[in-house]
Amino acid sequence: MSLLTVESLTASYGPVPALFGVGLKLDAGEVCALMGRNGMGKTTTVKAICRMIASSGGLRFAGRDLHGLPSHAVARLGVGLVPEGRRCFRDLTVEENLIAAARSGQWDFGRVTELFPRLGERRNQRAASLSGGEQQMLAIGRALMTNPRLLILDEATEGLAPIVRQEIWAAIDRIKNETGMAILLIDKSLRELASVADRAVIVARGETVWSGAMDALTPDITERYVGV
Ligand code: ATP
Repeated sequence: MSLLTVESLTASYGPVPALFGVGLKLDAGEVCALMGRNGMGKTTTVKAICRMIASSGGLRFAGRDLHGLPSHAVARLGVGLVPEGRRCFRDLTVEENLIAAARSGQWDFGRVTELFPRLGERRNQRAASLSGGEQQMLAIGRALMTNPRLLILDEATEGLAPIVRQEIWAAIDRIKNETGMAILLIDKSLRELASVADRAVIVARGETVWSGAMDALTPDITERYVGV
C-alpha cells in the first residue's frame, strides 16, 4: 500500500476551480518530483494534501482518509510541510523555532544542526535576522523536527544564491539516503530534481498529465509540460 495516494483530486479557490484531477502515489522512502509550469496547480495540490484548502477525490495517507481532518491532524499523522516562502517564527531564536516544532524521533536539535551547521552557529539569533538561505534551512529543520514520514518541500531553493542552493540539495540528498523518509519535491531546477528524485508527476492546468520513473522523463515531455 502506498504511503500517500491522491486520486482524481479537485479543488477550487472560491468559485474558481484550480485542480481538475490530480493523481499521484508515493511509497515509503520514495522521492517524487511534482513538476509543471507556473500556475499549473503544484502548490494547490500540496495545500490540498495538507488540508489547507478543501478538496474532493481520493486523499489517503498511511491508510487514513485525510478528508475531514484539520491540517494539524495531518501534520500529526506524519506530513511535514516546508511551505513556499519559508515560514518560521521571526521573533523566536533559531533554537526556539526548532524546539517549538519538536516531536519525538530520530530528528532532534543535534541532528538538525549536524545537517545544517549554520543553524547551530546561530542558535541564539532571532529568525528574522537570518539570511534567506538560513531561513530556508530553518524551515526545513522545523519540518524535520516533527519527524515526518513524508516531507514536502515547495520551492525550497527558490531565490537563493547558487552556493546555498547546493547546500540545500546536499541536505535533501542526505535526508533521502540516511532516513527512510518519503519526499515530495517542487522545484524549478530539473537537473537537481533528476539527480535526487525516483519518480516524477507532471501537472498541467490542474491535472496530472504524466507520471513515471524519473529516468523515463524524456526531453520531449519536459519541453512540452515543464518548459525546459
Ligand atoms: P507556481 O509555480 O507559480 O507556484 P503552481 O503550479 O504551484 O505555480 P498554484 O499556485 O497551485 O500553481 O496555482 C494553480 C492555480 O490556482 C493558478 O491558476 C493560480 O492562479 C490559482 N491560485 C493559486 N492560489 C490562489 C489563491 N489564493 N486564490 C485564487 N486563485 C489561486
